[in-house]
Amino acid sequence: MDLNTQTVAAGRGRAFAMKAGDHVRIVNTHGHQVVDAWALAAEDAGETSSMDHTRSVNSNIFFQQGMRVLSSRRRPMLTLVADSAGLRHDTLLCPCSRELYQQLGCAEPHRSCTDNFHEALAEAGCAVPFTPASLNLFMNVPVSPDGAVDRLPPASRAGDSVVLRAEMDLTLVLSACPQDITPINGEARTPRDIAVVMIDAFDGEEAP
Ligand SMILES: [Zn+2]
Repeated sequence: MDLNTQTVAAGRGRAFAMKAGDHVRIVNTHGHQVVDAWALAAEDAGETSSMDHTRSVNSNIFFQQGMRVLSSRRRPMLTLVADSAGLRHDTLLCPCSRELYQQLGCAEPHRSCTDNFHEALAEAGCAVPFTPASLNLFMNVPVSPDGAVDRLPPASRAGDSVVLRAEMDLTLVLSACPQDITPINGEARTPRDIAVVMIDAFDGEEAP
């Protein structure tokens, strides 16, 4: 394994510091793992990734190669520069939360992307008093012409990856979604690890 490779454990979250111009590859090691993603500006954690502004500037409800993640102050934060599976990543649905799992019938507290976001930030010495909407990488949420959304297992395969470029100094938070009640992380309903590789020099070779 590459020395620059780190793991986000199944069902857990982790924060990564990035400088403007840095690239990170997020590898769907087992193929069907949804990765909730957020970015926070290094200079002010109150400036977060915003799916509202992202959809507005991209004029699209999906997130695809070549598109940018915009901040709550409408500044570019991340660009999706490569995507081995050419997916339409979800920007619409909320990160899972304790309450969502209660509504799904879980009697005991269930790990969630919302908790992972705040725990990962705390480990990085940071905190925000709210949970921004997440960019849901690999999450397969097709939208019908009538506006109805579906929730399907990811269309990615083991080893598929995306590469994001930081457009400002920021903290990237990733959550390997712990959803195991519905098949959003695959029919096996088993959350899996993901691999995160900080790339020293990205030459764009993987663009399809
Ligand atoms: Zn989740």
